[in-house]
Amino acid sequence: MKENERKSGLFVVPGDQLGVIEEFTSGSGTYVEDGTIHSQVTGCTLLDMLNRQVSVYPIVPKATVPQVGNIVTGIALDVRSKNAVVRIFQVGDKKLSGFFTGMLHISGVSHGFVDNMYNVVKTGDIIKAKVISTKNRSFFLSTAENDLGVVHALCSICGNELKPGNRGLECSNCGNSERRKRSPDFGKDITREEKQDES
Ligand SMILES: [Zn+2]
Repeated sequence: MKENERKSGLFVVPGDQLGVIEEFTSGSGTYVEDGTIHSQVTGCTLLDMLNRQVSVYPIVPKATVPQVGNIVTGIALDVRSKNAVVRIFQVGDKKLSGFFTGMLHISGVSHGFVDNMYNVVKTGDIIKAKVISTKNRSFFLSTAENDLGVVHALCSICGNELKPGNRGLECSNCGNSERRKRSPDFGKDITREEKQDES
C-alpha cells in the first residue's frame, strides 16, 4: 500500500503488501516477509492506528446457489414411492460449505416410465442431477438425462458398496443385486479433491 492508501476497508488479495514492520505490527490474516507485511487472505484491511497494527478481515466467499441447468451432486435422504429429498452438497465441481435441499420427483427420474422410486433411487445413494426449477427457493431436480443418476450406492441389506455386475448392481459381500437409475459416472471416486467454493 502506498502512503495515501493506508486505510481500513481496502480490498486485498493474498500477497498484497500492507506495510512494513517499522510502521505496523502484523495482525491476523497477514504475514511478514523480509520486513514487509503481506495479506494472507482475500479480504478487507483493518488498520488499528492506536496500536499500529494491520490485519485483514477475510471476506466470506459468495455462496453458490444452484441455478436452473446446473448439475448438482447430493445424497438421497428421504426416498418415498413418488419422490426423494436430496441434500445437495456440490454444484458443478464446487463443493458447498453448507447444503441445499432438492426434490426429485418420480416423473423426473428417467425418460422411461418408473412405477416406484425405490426401484431407481434408495436412501443413502449419491446422485448427479440437473436443476430444472428453483421456484420458491425449492430446487427441483431431474436425473432423466443419460449422464445423470446414481453415482454411488450401498447394499440395502448389508451396507456394502455396490458394484456394476451382470445382474445390475451387485453386492460382493452378501450377493444381493439391486437396480438404480445409474449415471455412467457410477463407481468413480466421488471423494477426490474438488475445487473449493470461491466464486
Ligand atoms: Zn450386501
